[in-house]
Amino acid sequence: MRRWVYIPRSYKQSELQCDRAVCVTPSEAAKIIMSSRAVLVTGGLLLEKKYLVDFAVELSNIMPVIATGASSKPLLERGVKPVTKSYTLHHIIQFIEDGEWRKLRKFDLIVFLGIQPYYLSRVLSSLRHFSNIKTLSLDEYYQPNADYSFSAMAMAIEDSLCSGCGDCVTVCKTMSKGLAINVVRGKIYIKPCLCIGCGLCAEFCSRNAIIFEKGELLHKLMLGELLENVYITLKQ
Ligand code: SF4
Ligand code: SF4
Repeated sequence: MRRWVYIPRSYKQSELQCDRAVCVTPSEAAKIIMSSRAVLVTGGLLLEKKYLVDFAVELSNIMPVIATGASSKPLLERGVKPVTKSYTLHHIIQFIEDGEWRKLRKFDLIVFLGIQPYYLSRVLSSLRHFSNIKTLSLDEYYQPNADYSFSAMAMAIEDSLCSGCGDCVTVCKTMSKGLAINVVRGKIYIKPCLCIGCGLCAEFCSRNAIIFEKGELLHKLMLGELLENVYITLKQ
């Protein structure tokens, strides 16, 4: 069986000198969304990736949508009517930084989806410095300028391949803070809060029982798990 463990660390996070976003798992992101008055801001990547449109359509059931770039087109085709759609992302951010406009719209969290990473990074930096609104990036790359961001990596553990030999535990360098990986009754367990995502355990596993995953597959998986958690909360 394949188990997934999300690593709440950014890729190369240790190289970043700024205040960083809290790296959230899908269930944590769902909790943040469900306890806020959120607005979803979508970007042009929705034109390239259909799974982003599917996800935005689902989220539009619980929060209003502001469509930037040309992302309004696939949303309108799916019956989602954005509250605003004619502005560029920078225009939207100017309005959001204007406290009066926000009072009118009554939201306290902006959720970003489908926006080019470098573009989003600049916008998040501006929001961090010039507004007090919280931001959550659900895109594929870790965004240090957000308040909360998805992680860019996860570990997939193949229990059927693991022999329980413990080699991965021996190479893990997190001993001083407590061990991030352990073998209990022949099965490995990861403590995501201690893991630094170095990848040594995967490298030294001769049976390829640990795989580091990033990119689109991981992103789809995380969005899917977030939605599941949203549905669970809605049913409660
Ligand atoms: S090194 Fe590989 S096979 Fe050995 S315990 Fe770790 S994951 Fe399992
Ligand atoms: S070896 Fe590295 S990636 Fe593996 S559990 Fe330890 S800290 Fe995490």
